[in-house]
Amino acid sequence: MGNVNEENNLESMINKSKRAKELRERNVRNIEPCKKCEWKMFCGVCPREVYSCTGNVYDKIPQCIFQNNVFEALIWEFGKNQEGIMKYLIGEYDEN
Ligand code: SF4
Repeated sequence: MGNVNEENNLESMINKSKRAKELRERNVRNIEPCKKCEWKMFCGVCPREVYSCTGNVYDKIPQCIFQNNVFEALIWEFGKNQEGIMKYLIGEYDEN
């Protein structure tokens, strides 16, 4: 980033920042380990979480395998109970 003592315009400082540029340009389609993942549009791949665990915003999340299993299980459940899942998603599911 920059030095707050030398920069008097925060916006200018952020615009010059390599890290801010990385975050602005970050997209699940340009994260190498996620590019071909079938769940990429559902996953989220939180940049804060990834960075805190790997030091790199262009990596997959630490719980990637778990996330894959959850999505797969949800698809199976959806296949078995599409009406119930749709009602759950729109808040009309009755658990009784
Ligand atoms: S499940 Fe794993 S590989 Fe797929 S988008 Fe999420 S972090 Fe990336």
